[in-house]
Amino acid sequence: MDCVFCSIIAGQLPARFVHQDDRAVAFLDINPLRRGHTLVVPRLHVVDLTSDGAAEAVASLAPALQAVSRLLIERLPADGISLLQANRAAGGQEVFHLHFHLVPRWSGDRPLNDWTKDPEAGTALDAIHLQLSGGTS
Ligand code: AMP
Repeated sequence: MDCVFCSIIAGQLPARFVHQDDRAVAFLDINPLRRGHTLVVPRLHVVDLTSDGAAEAVASLAPALQAVSRLLIERLPADGISLLQANRAAGGQEVFHLHFHLVPRWSGDRPLNDWTKDPEAGTALDAIHLQLSGGTS
């Protein structure tokens, strides 16, 4: 399978899932911008917002976007969330399967302007996954 997100959805690649429903999945970004950075992905393979089927794919993400947002606020707990989304290489897209980034934010944290990854957040992926799955860390 050429698409890494389709492989995750098919169970052929591992991921730290925090939400799954009949039309969408959400899992921790392997290279996070902040602790708890989560990708919300439609099960349907659509490349970007300009693709045929993108409107339906975006609509199918609404319940997952709300569920994950609540998880991040309640269980991390985060103070806020930034929603990011990239289309095509020039727009910063690296994985060509439509997805939204939910990035937890804390009062007074540094600006998110340049999408700079946070190596420290990347070392805590398993602990964050446990926290968002209902356990403690
Ligand atoms: P974008 O630039 O919007 O296409 O973002 C793609 C995101 O997918 C990046 O933040 C990557 O860190 C993330 N990513 C790539 N491969 C994986 C993977 N196997 N599991 C989790 N996140 C991934």
